[in-house]
Amino acid sequence: MRLLEAGDQDGLHMNDEVSYDLYLKKAAEHYEGLCKRCGACCGLFEKDPCTELVQGEDGRYYCRIYEERFGLRRTVRGNEFLCVPVRKVISGSWAGSYQCAYKKQLTGLRVHPVR
Ligand code: SF4
Ligand code: SF4
Repeated sequence: MRLLEAGDQDGLHMNDEVSYDLYLKKAAEHYEGLCKRCGACCGLFEKDPCTELVQGEDGRYYCRIYEERFGLRRTVRGNEFLCVPVRKVISGSWAGSYQCAYKKQLTGLRVHPVR
């Protein structure tokens, strides 16, 4: 992104930066909150989920190494795969992807041509 010129900085106050940081934090929380914790993107619907996928007391699924999840992982049947950000697979299709909240939102935002 463009760095502000010295003259521009007069117009940017600490409150603006705090507000922007807050906005980013809220946006990230909102994005995370969209996930239904269905486990589909972690192989649950293929009946060979990642070994790091656990079911919580609320019946939903969670990654027990969420903060360090990316990289080489293994399924319960011993198959290796790469855990990647969901945005990298969102345009594709996988078992249970029809119910992914992010995929639904992406489909909803898609603009279809008027006939
Ligand atoms: S490591 Fe990746 S694939 Fe495995 S449970 Fe966590 S998020 Fe899902
Ligand atoms: S498939 Fe989508 S909604 Fe389900 S756990 Fe994965 S990211 Fe969340």
